[in-house]
Amino acid sequence: MKFLSLKIVFVLILLFSITYVALATEKGRPYYEEKGYVLWEVKTDEKLIALTFDDGPDKTYTAQILDLLAQYDAKSTFFVIGERAEKFPDLVRRLDDDGHEIANHTYTHPYSTTTDNLKQELKKTNDVIRDITGTAPFLYRPVGGSYNERMINTAVQSGYKVVMWSWHLDTKDWKRPGVQNIVSMVTSGAKPGNIVLFHDAGGDRSQTVAALKQILPALQKQGYTFVTVSELMDRTSVKVHH
Ligand SMILES: [Zn+2]
Repeated sequence: MKFLSLKIVFVLILLFSITYVALATEKGRPYYEEKGYVLWEVKTDEKLIALTFDDGPDKTYTAQILDLLAQYDAKSTFFVIGERAEKFPDLVRRLDDDGHEIANHTYTHPYSTTTDNLKQELKKTNDVIRDITGTAPFLYRPVGGSYNERMINTAVQSGYKVVMWSWHLDTKDWKRPGVQNIVSMVTSGAKPGNIVLFHDAGGDRSQTVAALKQILPALQKQGYTFVTVSELMDRTSVKVHH
C-alpha cells in the first residue's frame, strides 16, 4: 500500500512537471504581442476602430460594402484571397483607389498547410496585389484565424505582420446570425483600438451589408473614426516588425 501511494505521488509529480514545461514553452499572446509579430487590437484612448473584411473580393458584396464605406468615409482593411483578387482585379483596384488597405489572406484559402506551401501562398497573393495596385501588402491573416508558431515564423520571415481581431468583435457574419445580432454585437461591444471581423465573400453576405448600414452611422455617432489596420498601428505607435 505504501509503495502504491509513493508510485501515485511519483506519477503525479511527473505529470505536473510535463504540464509545467509544456505551458512554459508555449508562446502565447503576450509573447507575440511583445515581439510585434501578431496584433489582436491596440490600446488607445482615441476613438479609432478598424473594420476588416475577409475572403473577398466578391462581385456582389464587396462593391456594395465599398459604396457604404464611401458614404461614411470609413477606411477599412480587406484580407483578400489571392486567386479571387486575380479574378476581380477591378475590385482590387477600387479598394486601393478608395483608400482601403489590402492585406494577404493566402492564395487558395487552405485550412491546413505546410511551411513551404504557406510561403508560396503568401508570395503568390503578394505578387497579385502588387501587380494590380503597385503596392505589396504587409499584413497577413491566417485562414480561419488559426495559427501556430511555425506559421507565424513563416509569415514574419516573409515580411508580414499577422493580424487577428478583437475576440469580442468576431461578428460570425458568415453564419448569418441575423442582422440585429451583428449590429448589436459591434455597436455595444466596440472600444477604442478594436479590430472588427466581417466577411465580404464566401457566400450570401446580405446580412453583413444590411448590418453595416446600421453599424457605420451608429459608431460614427459614438464618435468613432474608421481607420485601416496600418493607420491604427501608426497612430498608436504599436511596434511593427520589419
Ligand atoms: Zn478566410
